[in-house]
Amino acid sequence: MNLDVFKRPGRFFRGNLHTHSKISDGVLEPEAVAAHYRDAGYDFLALTDHFLPRYNFPIVDTRPFRTNRFTTILGAEVHAPANSQGEMWHILCVGLPEDFPQTGKTETGAELAARAVEAGAFVAIAHPQWSGLNIEDGRALPMAHAVEVYNNTCALESRRGDGAFLLDQLLCDGRDILAIATDDAHFRVGDACGGWVMVKAEENEPSALLAALKAGDFYSTQGPEIHSAEIVGGALHVECSPAVTIAAVGRGSRAVNIHGRALTRGELALDRFAGDWFRFLVSDAADRWAWSNPVRLSA
Ligand SMILES: [Zn+2]
Ligand SMILES: [Zn+2]
Repeated sequence: MNLDVFKRPGRFFRGNLHTHSKISDGVLEPEAVAAHYRDAGYDFLALTDHFLPRYNFPIVDTRPFRTNRFTTILGAEVHAPANSQGEMWHILCVGLPEDFPQTGKTETGAELAARAVEAGAFVAIAHPQWSGLNIEDGRALPMAHAVEVYNNTCALESRRGDGAFLLDQLLCDGRDILAIATDDAHFRVGDACGGWVMVKAEENEPSALLAALKAGDFYSTQGPEIHSAEIVGGALHVECSPAVTIAAVGRGSRAVNIHGRALTRGELALDRFAGDWFRFLVSDAADRWAWSNPVRLSA
């Protein structure tokens, strides 16, 4: 990500990119899902039901649920064979047209993801830990914009919500890949509002949000807020909501961190990440985390 995003005009809009309704295997009607996020203070929502024949390949029209301060982005979680485990891919597509053609009988996950990108979607590799994915799976979807660094439902249901291992290995490959936190809420357990993105845009409007997502103009969080981040004299200066940890991580075991009780700013030396990538994290006293997008540094 370009850290200038923190200085640019516009504001951060809060959104959940991965959600299910009764149209596939979720519990609530689409309208109730939208109302839940609207009432929780979200600015936008992507309802992403499973794009499968047994649900008649739904792209749910959520436009009726928009208000003057809440918008929706159409999307779906698409599926096709086969990941390294021989199972169906789970690929999150945010920003699909309502008439996105159904999955072809012989279409692979990579072909389907490429078609979604071509149709304008922001595409992410969903819940890599829950799916048991490995680096070859990440390499098999070179068109994906992002990896789910955190999936709330997978974390709550089976403690497999972490995607950092795949994200970091792809970054070490030299890949430009972004990190998103999502709910993947089905409303079976209290799985809503546990992980979201904060997207910097000039307006809360689907095309502006999608462009900002693709550009990496966002961070992900379970609660902590990142107010600013800039590199001054070889150090990262972060301002945030009260934190107990501010950390930066990079290739291999490279990491720097500071700890305190209610840190609202921190400075991290970046010399060990020179010529390579780093990303930074903030955690609060409730062990909720925020994740930046990766930053590449010149040598
Ligand atoms: Zn899934
Ligand atoms: Zn899902």
